[in-house]
Formats: sequence, C-alpha cells, structure tokens
Amino acid sequence: MLGANVWRRMLGVDKATVIESVEVDEEANAVVAHVRPRKAAKRRCGRCGVRAPGYDQGEGRRRWRCLDLGTVMCFLEADSPRVSCPTHGPTVAQVPWARHGAGHTRDFDDEVAWLVTHTAKSTVYSMMRVAWRTVGSVVSRVVAGGRAAHDLFDGLRRIGIDEISYKRGHRYLTICVDHDSRRLVWAAVGRDKKTLNRFFDLLGEERCAQITLVSADGAEGIADVVAERAKNATLCIDSFHVVQSGPPTSSTRSVARSGTPPGGRVRALNREARPRARQPDDPPRTGRRCSGAPSARWTSRDGPASEPR
Ligand SMILES: [Zn+2]
Repeated sequence: MLGANVWRRMLGVDKATVIESVEVDEEANAVVAHVRPRKAAKRRCGRCGVRAPGYDQGEGRRRWRCLDLGTVMCFLEADSPRVSCPTHGPTVAQVPWARHGAGHTRDFDDEVAWLVTHTAKSTVYSMMRVAWRTVGSVVSRVVAGGRAAHDLFDGLRRIGIDEISYKRGHRYLTICVDHDSRRLVWAAVGRDKKTLNRFFDLLGEERCAQITLVSADGAEGIADVVAERAKNATLCIDSFHVVQSGPPTSSTRSVARSGTPPGGRVRALNREARPRARQPDDPPRTGRRCSGAPSARWTSRDGPASEPR
C-alpha cells in the first residue's frame, strides 16, 4: 500500500485527517478511503466549529465523494456523529475534508464551482458525474463559504453601476462592479431605485460614505439614489455610454481607445471602424469580463483613470 503522505495528497486531505485504510469497492467500482478526523479536529460543531460534547452517532458511517483518481470514482468514508452545540443544538460534527452538509469534499466542491464559471452547466454535471441539481447546490455552498470568508464590499471606493437585460430584454439586472478589483460585487433583479437602494442598504452608512466615485449610464434613477446614499461620491458617465450617446467623433473614439489594445474594444463601440486582425506581437489584452454578467465589462474594463469626467 502507498504511504499515508502519498494518499493524503492524492485524496486532497490535510494533516487533520487520519487515513486508516484504502480499499477498492468492487460493487461500486470505486476506491474508498476510510478516514477520521485527528483528535484536535474532533467533536466540533459543523456550523460554528466550536468544540462541543458528543450527542449521538448520527447516521453512522457515511461517504463523501472526492475527486476521481484517474477514471475511477473515489470516496472518503467515516463516522458522522452529532455533537451538542451550545448555540446550534444537536448538529453533525465538523469534518476537516468537507463543508457542513456536503456530500462531497472541499476539493470536489471547489472544482465544480470553478468549472461552472468557465463552461456550461450541462458539461459540468456530465464531466463530474453528478446530478444536475447537485451542481447548483455545490455552487451555493461554495459561494456561501466565500462570502463568509471574504467581504466583497470591504474597501469599496470606486464603483460602476449598470443594468443588463435578459429574457430577450423583458427582464433586467442591476449590477455593481468594483473598479479597483474589477470584480462584480453585487447584482439583483430589477432596475429601479428600490433595487439600487438595496445595494446601498447592504453597504451600510459607513461604507457608503467611503465611496468616492460612481460611474453609471446617466440614468436619472441611478443619479438620484447615488446623490442621496453616497454623498461623498462623484458621479460620472462611463465611457461606453458617452460613446453610445452620439455619433462617433475623434474625441469619443479617443475615449474608447484609451488604454485598449488594437482590436479590443473599438469593435463593439464603433462597428463602422473595423479593427485590423489581432497580430501575434500585439500586447496582451487588458481587463477581464465580469463572469456572470457579460455586459458588466463596460463598467469594469477600464479603471477610473480612463473614465471621462
Ligand atoms: Zn455550533
């Protein structure tokens, strides 16, 4: 049998996990590793991680799917006792290899979530050999964990607000991006003042006061809400909407091209002026699209330095 360190790396578990044995389950045509948490990681509440007294044996032995070993499915198998948490009551004990309530290991969840951001959901469930609904629940779990660990609103100073349509223009999303990190930080269904106010409600008064710049499309609704909620912010029109608002001129083309490599943005802004094909020695493209909100690229692509004032 391979050494524990080799198995630990292959199974994606850390030193808080003890690997007792590894076997092949012929019936399931899978590799099964029997594991347990190390003593320091035992008897902790699955929700809050606080050490708590044991409650009962829960559902007994259970399995967590982990990343395939080559073409073979792989599972971790362990006891899943419950503890009596002073805050949450009887709760399944925390395990170091998986998130609470998950039927998959952390690495498996993370890979599914990463794939979803890069390819179609149908490809993901087929490739990872999971159910369609499982992909959605994995993504929800990973997003919840990420939100708990990282506050996307922390340090927001310069933001862009825009709206994008879906369902063939019958429905809209209001989106907010962080110009500094170039990330989508918030999105919600709707495009009215009430929707945008929800963003500022989440942000809170203190962080609203820290916003110094807001770029938007010039809609009055956005301007009114920004003036009321982000009193220290300067509102400007984002470069896409400056160009969109009138026929292309040398100055607006200049705005569109600023900081953009040949063939990058001008194509979308001015279809009459077709750019030359991208050449091998062209500089790399800058800026990233905000995944999940394609049109957010107009508010996120260029930083405030290139926004018209
Ligand atoms: Zn708890």
